[in-house]
Amino acid sequence: MIPVIIIGGGASGLMLSSLLPSKTATIIEHNAKLGAKILISGGGRCNVTNANVSSENYLGDQKFVSTILKKFNQHDMLAWCNRKNLNLVIQKNNQYFCPSSAKELQEIFAKDSQKQSVILNQSVIGVSKIDDYFIVKTNRDSFKAKNVVVASGGLSYTTIGASGIGYEIATLFGHSIKKTAPALVGFTLQKEQFFMKELSGTAIENVNILVGGKVCSGALLFAHKGVSGPCILDASLYWEKGTIEIDFLPDFDWHTAKQSKKNISTILPLAKRVLKAILDEFSLPDKPYSQLSKDEQSKLHTLKSYKFAPAGTFGYNKAEVTKGGVDTSEIDELTMMSQKVENLYFIGEVLDVTGELGGYNFQWAFSTATVCAKSIR
Ligand SMILES: Cc1cc2nc3c(=O)[nH]c(=O)nc-3n(C[C@H](O)[C@H](O)[C@H](O)COP(=O)(O)OP(=O)(O)OC[C@H]3O[C@@H](n4cnc5c(N)ncnc54)[C@H](O)[C@@H]3O)c2cc1C
Repeated sequence: MIPVIIIGGGASGLMLSSLLPSKTATIIEHNAKLGAKILISGGGRCNVTNANVSSENYLGDQKFVSTILKKFNQHDMLAWCNRKNLNLVIQKNNQYFCPSSAKELQEIFAKDSQKQSVILNQSVIGVSKIDDYFIVKTNRDSFKAKNVVVASGGLSYTTIGASGIGYEIATLFGHSIKKTAPALVGFTLQKEQFFMKELSGTAIENVNILVGGKVCSGALLFAHKGVSGPCILDASLYWEKGTIEIDFLPDFDWHTAKQSKKNISTILPLAKRVLKAILDEFSLPDKPYSQLSKDEQSKLHTLKSYKFAPAGTFGYNKAEVTKGGVDTSEIDELTMMSQKVENLYFIGEVLDVTGELGGYNFQWAFSTATVCAKSIR
C-alpha cells in the first residue's frame, strides 16, 4: 500500500512531495511533465511570493487563512528558496520572482520529486474508500493508498491540465463546494463601454477600482475583448456581478484643472488617445475647465467615479485562478485534513481561498502543502 498519493503535480503537490520523507509519496499527474503551470507563471519568471502577505490579500475565511499563514509564511518560503540556492529577486509591488526563469523553481521541484514515485500521463478519475484505505482510480490503473492528498488545483487553464477532479472527489466524500468562477481575469464589456475596445493596446498606469467593498489599485489595460491589466485582475476577484466604480485619475485634484487656462486634454494625466476617446464618448469639447458648462463639468467629474457593469469575464481559459472551491469550514486548518473523511487532505487552489495578484496564490499553495506535510503520517 502507498503511504501517500498526491493527486496533481503542480505547485502544492510538488512542495508536499519535496517535504515528505523519501519513498513515502506517489504523485499522479496527467500532464507529461511536472509543474507545467509554474513554467508559464509570472510571465515565465514565476512570482513565487510577496514581501507583504496577510489574510487580507485573500478571498476566503480570514481566520482559516491566517492560521495557515502563521505556520508557513513568505519569510519561511524565502528561507526555503535560499536553502535550495534559489535567490529570488524582489520587484515592483513587493513581488518576488525567480532570478531569470520559472524553470529554476520547476527544476528544483522536479529534482526533489525523484525521491518519490511519479506517475505521469495518467488522469485520476475517481477515489473511493474501503475500510481504512483508499483506492485511487486513473484512466489506466488503480492504486491503494493510506492517505490521499487532493492537490489538483482549479479550473483555470484546461490547456495545461486543469480539471474539476478535486471538486468531484470532495463532493463524493460529502464536502460542500463554494460556487466556482474565473478570477484574476479580464472583464468583457456591455454595449455602453464598447468605445473602450477602440483603445485596445493602450493602458492607464494607475487607476483605483471600487468593487465589493474593496479598493484595488494598479494599471488598467484596454484589450481587444474588454479590459484587463493588474487592477482589473484584482477587481475580478471581488466582483460577483453588478457595478464596479473606476477612478481613472486617482492622483489628480480638480483644483489643478480649475486653476488652469489650458485645455482639459493638456491637463488631465491620461494618454492622448485615451482622453480623445473619453471626450468623444462623453460629448465633451476640449476647452479649459472654466469654459465648460456645469453639466459638462459634472460629466468630466465622472472620470473619478466611472460606474459600469462588466458583461462577464474572459473565462477560465484566460483566468489565472479559480475562486470558490472546497468549503474550508470542513477542513482542519492545523492539518489540511478533511473533517469528514480521515486521511483525506485538500491543499492549494482547490480550496475556497483565492489570493490577489502578486505571488499570493503560490504562497497559498506552498503554505497549505507545508501544513499538510507536517501532519501527514
Ligand atoms: C498563466 C498563469 C500565471 C500565473 N502566475 C502566477 C504567479 O506568478 N504567482 C502566483 O502566485 N500565482 C500565479 N498563478 C496561479 C498559480 O499558478 C496557482 O494558484 C497555483 O499553481 C495553484 O497550485 P495548485 O497546486 O493548487 O494547482 P496547480 O498548480 O494548478 O496544479 C494542479 C495539478 O493537478 C493536475 N491535475 C488536474 N487534474 C488532474 C487529474 N484528473 N489527474 C491528474 N492530475 C491532474 C494538473 O495538471 C496540475 O499539474 C498563475 C496562474 C496562471 C494560469
